[in-house]
Amino acid sequence: MPRTVGSRYYGWLGLATALGLLLAVLARPAAGAPVVSQEPPDAGEDGAPWARLRDRERVTQTEHFAIWVPAGSPLRQRANEVAAIAETVLPTVAQRLATALAGPVDLLILPPEAAPPPCLARAATLPTRRRVVLFDWPETHQPAALTAFLAHELGHQLTYDRWGTVGPDVRLSEGLATWAAEPYWLAWQGWSSLDAAVADLQRGHAFAPLTEPQEGCLSAAERNIYYSAWASFVDFLLRRYGWDAMGIALHAPGIEDRADYVQAFGQSLETLAAAWEATLPDGEDAPPVRRCKQ
Ligand SMILES: [Zn+2]
Repeated sequence: MPRTVGSRYYGWLGLATALGLLLAVLARPAAGAPVVSQEPPDAGEDGAPWARLRDRERVTQTEHFAIWVPAGSPLRQRANEVAAIAETVLPTVAQRLATALAGPVDLLILPPEAAPPPCLARAATLPTRRRVVLFDWPETHQPAALTAFLAHELGHQLTYDRWGTVGPDVRLSEGLATWAAEPYWLAWQGWSSLDAAVADLQRGHAFAPLTEPQEGCLSAAERNIYYSAWASFVDFLLRRYGWDAMGIALHAPGIEDRADYVQAFGQSLETLAAAWEATLPDGEDAPPVRRCKQ
């Protein structure tokens, strides 16, 4: 049974000694003595109480990540796997976003029923708190899926670490996180090329035009498709306009559900979306379209 820092300690150690012990435990846990966060009850209650660390138990710690589970939860058995994958994908995601992690990240594993309705995320990032939350859905037990999810979430944290924001537009924030995770995303989906796969999805009308308002929830299956399309769009924007323009798009105040595309890229979303679609390959295995000037 995991031990917690609780009344039994106070009973025989005395308050002053117990506080000293608590601080020492929090600073450097002794082997086999799980740390239970003493985060104040109201910390993190502003919009995401499920992401709190209070009453969570720190199971393990690696160079960049501390892995937490609900105190006493069997989810602790997943901690080493999750930590190892996060460390494995981090260098690639950081290199793709050309930035280093600004500090350690807490990775909290929760049971699926803790996922807040109505959107039922598989994972979430609270970048200002440097916290990634993984919900233990069956899908996260597939190593390729778990790897893609963790790389995507670290994409959000690194976006925040580079620009101090993830921006006002989910097309760009989710697109950028997916783009950052692209090698792992492709491996999970079994795709050899993001653009070819997205072109195929588009021919099958699997997603609505980029210009449609993005509101409400996407199902998990829809997220897989939309995030892929948005990542392809982000790749187009980076190829054509570069990182500085992307930084402007993330920083500028949004207009309804959109970034200020005109300020960042000099074009409306309608124009950019049409230009992006024109760059997608024609057929599933066709090379990128070459357009002749005649
Ligand atoms: Zn995301």
